[in-house]
Amino acid sequence: MNDVKKTWDAVLGDIELQVSRPNFLTWLKQSELVEHDEKNGTVTVALPNAFSKEWVKNKYHKLILHALRDIDSGIKNVNYIVKSGIQKSPVKTAHQKKQDGARKQLAQSQLLESKVDPETNLNSKYLLSNFVVGASNELAHAAVQAVIDSVGTKYNPLFIYGMVGLGKTHLIQGAGNAIKEKYKSNIKVLYTTSENFIRDVVQAIRHNRTEDIKKKYRRIDVLIIDDIQFIGGKQQTEVEFFHTFNSLHEQNKQIILSSDRPPAAIAELEERLRSRFEGGMVADISYPDYETRLAILKAKLHLGGTSMDDWILEYIAESIQNNIRELEGVLNKVVFYRDYKNEDISRKLLDKIISESSRMSSSITPDKIIKTVARYFDISTEDLTKRTRKREVVEPRQICMYLMRDLLKCSYPHIGERLGKRDHTTVIYACEKVGERVKNNAEVNQKIMLIKEQLYQ
Ligand code: ADP
Ligand code: MG
Repeated sequence: MNDVKKTWDAVLGDIELQVSRPNFLTWLKQSELVEHDEKNGTVTVALPNAFSKEWVKNKYHKLILHALRDIDSGIKNVNYIVKSGIQKSPVKTAHQKKQDGARKQLAQSQLLESKVDPETNLNSKYLLSNFVVGASNELAHAAVQAVIDSVGTKYNPLFIYGMVGLGKTHLIQGAGNAIKEKYKSNIKVLYTTSENFIRDVVQAIRHNRTEDIKKKYRRIDVLIIDDIQFIGGKQQTEVEFFHTFNSLHEQNKQIILSSDRPPAAIAELEERLRSRFEGGMVADISYPDYETRLAILKAKLHLGGTSMDDWILEYIAESIQNNIRELEGVLNKVVFYRDYKNEDISRKLLDKIISESSRMSSSITPDKIIKTVARYFDISTEDLTKRTRKREVVEPRQICMYLMRDLLKCSYPHIGERLGKRDHTTVIYACEKVGERVKNNAEVNQKIMLIKEQLYQ
């Protein structure tokens, strides 16, 4: 395999870990590095059509350049061209085969993630058999077991809360999958997020079809709603949910909810809903202890059909304490470096991976939003923060305002102050406008999703 191919495979391997699976498959998988001009540090990347060329250039240029420079710091520019009929070479070297193997494994583990049953919305990768039980989650886990044994009659609703990345989604989806497995088609299970529920309600109200909500949700035997905290303050949705809740509850249908905080701490939640939430079983998931973290690492390796030296696992489990998603992310990256880049795992490399990961997951700040939005639209952060009237920054700035409000609950005057000293009424207008468009305009919705994805990366 020539050097150009090798470089590009490594770049793709790197990027694969940083973007979502669908985005990777859609936009990057068919790319090819066609030329590397070492004299002026320029590489040329080919995409199969003009649309993906534009998209990759606009959205992934920084990532690509970064990954390229990691491999060869002499690279300064990337050109994007269209080349139809891109195909990978059919002749494989031993090295390439090994890479293929590693990549296939990676792909398999990620493919697992996308197996969502269209009827229940449950993802088959979330199984209770893969869920490691420790002191931090044993109460929640026991409650789930009880619910599986006596659906609708024992703990109803079951309300599970805990900080982000501690296993709420895994546990409640695991419950759904177990119920499905145990009772087969006799029981209708539906998993959804409160955001989807809110969207359904808003749509139904707009089209005068609140009957649809009743039809869709009240025929369910086990309704699982993830991240219910977002319902707070959405009055119409709260009313609709209250009725749905009561209707299900009266018929002994099971309701399972997750939230990042206990019912009493959900802002602007109607009192009657709060007391409903507290009326069944409330169980929390807290931070996992060292033994649990280590056990989770081992379980994940086992699932992926591979293993790892104990000292490495111990080192990772020591270093990452507050977020299992992050723990898993670091493990995946270490496996990737070992099997794909063929690197020896040293203390130094581990430190690098760990510090990178905690930098990325460090919580979102207004600055981070400003930077991410600027990068997404390929404008400077000053364009957003200074008082310019350039037309092309209007939309980015409005989106920035919306995200600062939506994700950080910044006050309107504060947002106005940060973004070009705007009046707070301008900010309110922008937030409402973008909020509306997110619901009605697929393109805007897609933009916001991609930006959020980069923010959370
Ligand atoms: P949350 O919904 O609380 O933010 P998730 O359920 O998405 O967290 O969990 C984050 C990641 O950590 C998932 O990949 C999940 O499989 C994994 N995870 C969390 N808790 C456990 C556990 N006890 N055992 C195994 N994996 C876990
Ligand atoms: Mg979750």
